[in-house]
Amino acid sequence: MSYALIIAEVRRGVFEERNLDTLGICALLGKETVLLMPDKPYTFNENMYDTIIKAKTEEEVFLNPLNIAGIIEQVISARGKPDFIILTHSSSGSESAVYMAGLFSLPVVTDVSGYDKERNIFFKSYYSDKIFGEFKSSQEGTCILTVRSGSFKEFVGEKASAPKVEFIENVSVSEARTFVEYVEEEKTDIDITKAEFLLSVGRGIGNKDEIPDYEALAGLLKAVLSGSRPVIDKLWLPKARQVGTSGKTVKPKVYLAMGISGAFQHIAGMKDSDCIIAVNKDAEAPIFQYAHFGIVADIHKVRDKLKNILAG
Ligand SMILES: Cc1cc2nc3c(=O)[nH]c(=O)nc-3n(C[C@H](O)[C@H](O)[C@H](O)COP(=O)(O)OP(=O)(O)OC[C@H]3O[C@@H](n4cnc5c(N)ncnc54)[C@H](O)[C@@H]3O)c2cc1C
Repeated sequence: MSYALIIAEVRRGVFEERNLDTLGICALLGKETVLLMPDKPYTFNENMYDTIIKAKTEEEVFLNPLNIAGIIEQVISARGKPDFIILTHSSSGSESAVYMAGLFSLPVVTDVSGYDKERNIFFKSYYSDKIFGEFKSSQEGTCILTVRSGSFKEFVGEKASAPKVEFIENVSVSEARTFVEYVEEEKTDIDITKAEFLLSVGRGIGNKDEIPDYEALAGLLKAVLSGSRPVIDKLWLPKARQVGTSGKTVKPKVYLAMGISGAFQHIAGMKDSDCIIAVNKDAEAPIFQYAHFGIVADIHKVRDKLKNILAG
C-alpha cells in the first residue's frame, strides 16, 4: 500500500492538536499513515497511525527544515518514496514544506482546507474564504501538502491494530542554523481572546490622545479594548491587543468595531464573533458586509453619545 509521511508538530513536550488534521486528510486520501516524530515522550493516541517512526534526536531539531529533510531521506531509503509528505500549516510546517519542495524538486500545495476525492483536487482558500483555488499535482510521485488547522480532524479514527514502531538512530544536525530559545510573548493582564465584549478601534480614531476616551467607553460597556494593526503599529495599544491574521483570532459575544475599514487581514481575526457591530463614516466600508448591525456615523460622536447614556 502506498503511504503518506506525516511530520508531527510537537512543541515543548506537547503533541499538538493540529496533528489530527494531517492525519484526517490521510484518511480521505486512503493512504497508510506513517508518522515521523522525535523520540520523546508525548501524550497522544498512537493507535491512530499505521506506523510511527521515532528519530532519536531533540525536539528542536525538527524546527530546522534542513534536519527534517535529512531524516526524510533516511525514511525514503528504508521504505521508498511516499505519495505525500504532509505537514501542518504552521509557521514551521510551511517553512519545512517549501524548503523540501525546493530541495527535492517536488510539487507543494500549502494551506489545504479541503479535498475532492473523486477529482483528486485539493482546495485552498483566498481572501478570508471568499474564493477557493483548486489544485492537483501534475506529476507522478510525491506531493507535499500543508494542512489548515481544523479542516480534517473529524475524519480521524483508530486503526484495528497497534502501530508498528520504528527508530532512526543517527540524525545529522545542521550547524548552518541552530535553534536558540523560545521567547515568551510579553505577558499582559488582558487576554483579548477570552473577552466576551470587545470594543475594537481602528485608524479612524485619528491619534493616540483618543485612546483614554475609548478606554473609558470600554469600561462603561464592560468591554475590553482591542485594535486593528495600524493602532498597534503606531504603539497606541500594545501588541497583545491586536485582532487579525498577524494578531489574535477572537470570538467574543459582541465585537464593536469603531473606525475599522474591514481589511481581510482584520476580518479573518474576528468574523466568527457572535454579534458584530460596526461604526464607520464611510457607508461603503467593507466591514459593513460582515456586521450584523452597522452605524454610518462619526465614531467620536457615537462614542460621546454612548458615554453620556451609560454614565447616566
Ligand atoms: C501581512 C499582513 C498582515 C496584516 N495583519 C493584520 C492584522 O492582524 N490586523 C489588522 O487589523 N490588519 C492587518 N493588516 C493590515 C490590513 O491590511 C489593514 O491595513 C488594516 O486592517 C487597516 O486598519 P484600519 O481598518 O484600522 O485602518 P483603515 O483601513 O485606514 O480604516 C480606517 C477606517 O476608519 C474610518 N474612519 C476614519 N475616520 C472616521 C471617523 N471619524 N468616524 C468614523 N469612521 C472613520 C474610515 O472610513 C476607514 O474605513 C495586515 C496586513 C498585512 C500585509
